[in-house]
Amino acid sequence: MPTSPEVVASPVELQRRMLEARARGQRIAFVPTMGYLHEGHLSLLREGRKRGDVLVLSIFVNPTQFGPSEDLARYPRDLAGDLAKAASAGTDLALVPEPAAMYPDGYQTYVDVREVSKGQCGDRRPGHFVGVATVVLKLFNIVQPHVALFGDKDYQQLQVLRRMVADLDVPVEIVGLPIVREADGLAMSSRNAYLGPEERQHALALSRALAAARARWAAGERDARALESAARAVLEPVPGSRIDYVEVRDAETLRSIDHAERAVRLSLAVFIGKTRLIDGETFSWK
Ligand code: AMP
Repeated sequence: MPTSPEVVASPVELQRRMLEARARGQRIAFVPTMGYLHEGHLSLLREGRKRGDVLVLSIFVNPTQFGPSEDLARYPRDLAGDLAKAASAGTDLALVPEPAAMYPDGYQTYVDVREVSKGQCGDRRPGHFVGVATVVLKLFNIVQPHVALFGDKDYQQLQVLRRMVADLDVPVEIVGLPIVREADGLAMSSRNAYLGPEERQHALALSRALAAARARWAAGERDARALESAARAVLEPVPGSRIDYVEVRDAETLRSIDHAERAVRLSLAVFIGKTRLIDGETFSWK
């Protein structure tokens, strides 16, 4: 049995340990999560294991990135299960702080990455990316990583964080890794736990919508609205579903475009019943 990662609750204590590790010349790899780990998270940890001498995971359901009507209180949690899975991926340390340790009384500093945070999840979830950028910068300052790994699943988040690190001269390498899917195509997500059996079937429409647009792209379609229509045509008939957005944008800046001149990102956000799922794919010429 692989040994369980050491759990550290105190950000100050972890920061002290990480500064010592750096002074010893050790390379630190870091995977931030909200827990309820699945194979998507484990793919990040396994890659982190290869890239660092010390592999640190954080599990923190960050209150500042949830809107008032979102699922903060019922977000799924399973610390014992998470630690067992993290151990299997070779994790050394798990930072599991209480919210009060991250945001003590008097807390008032927030990071606003302006342009890339606009549109898509930024508009649908006001304040979400300010919460994400703030907590990730705090976690970077605590963990002092050389490299941090994130999933393409939350593509806008990844672009926001890349921009933040470039703009604020944060000395960390950001690595983005592909979406890990269930055998039937559903993108893995902690929120899949909310889906009932029928909803679970209906949720397959997201990956089928990506496939429909991919086929159009492969056939030479470069019109953004036409690619979106191909995806919408798969999503609209699904019972109990509601499209939040279906958008083709520039893959790097996430600016709106009409026609693809370089790589584009198709991003989907769809409610299946009450559960909001996201998925996406980059289309490029390579
Ligand atoms: P979360 O716990 O949802 O905040 O996710 C933590 C990290 O895992 C983020 O970088 C996500 O993009 C990544 N992640 C979540 N789901 C997947 C997936 N299916 N494949 C790859 N990475 C993922």
